Amino acid sequence: MVEPTTLQEAILFFSNPENCHDYMVARRWPNGVVTCPSCGSDRVSYLSNQKKWQCSTKHSKRQFTLKTGTIFEDSPLGLDKWLTATWMITNCRNGISSWELHRTLGITQKAAWFVLHRVRLAMQDDLTGGNLEGEVEVDETFIGGKARNMHKDRKRRVQAEGRNTGGKTVVLGILERKTKRVRATVVPNRKKDTMQSGIRGVVEPGASIHSDEHGNSWKMEEYEHLIVNHLEAYVSGNVHT
Ligand SMILES: [Zn+2]
Repeated sequence: MVEPTTLQEAILFFSNPENCHDYMVARRWPNGVVTCPSCGSDRVSYLSNQKKWQCSTKHSKRQFTLKTGTIFEDSPLGLDKWLTATWMITNCRNGISSWELHRTLGITQKAAWFVLHRVRLAMQDDLTGGNLEGEVEVDETFIGGKARNMHKDRKRRVQAEGRNTGGKTVVLGILERKTKRVRATVVPNRKKDTMQSGIRGVVEPGASIHSDEHGNSWKMEEYEHLIVNHLEAYVSGNVHT
């Protein structure tokens, strides 16, 4: 894999969109097989004039770019800026200030500050060990009320629909039992696709997933699934709620 060795080289290298493309593909999909970040399928086709891939499975967010599912996703900054910034932050031993990013990349101070913080945060995540593995617990929490605390009928209805959050925010919390490491993200709903991509993003294949009965609606082949019927019992031994 190509890796620039000096800042000058990095700036030059990442100013070429083809280099950015190859660099990202090589790191996101090291075995060379591009897979859909939502469903994990490798049946994807590249739409070269749009610089996007499209998954052949029918689900929401079928089209994805190099940025989709990465820390660069929701930013208007190009990969040329992001990759150069990431290179600088990871390679400059004495640390990089947002002012330096602003000057070197020709982006606003505000954008530079955002980039710096986002990359640092991602690196911290990396330091804490990457994806969760082994025995993990998946818990969906409604902010303002636990799914499990709902009235039985309402809970059944909500779970059957898998999407009616009653206007409440859903937090997908995932705990690694052995280390007590936790990943928590806000998700838009409890639909199958949403749950699957949320879990795939942070849990290593081969893990055993413990969840409540709603887990039946988003089971995935790459994990062992254990449904716990009595959530109170399952929660009592843990700290993550
Ligand atoms: Zn897909």
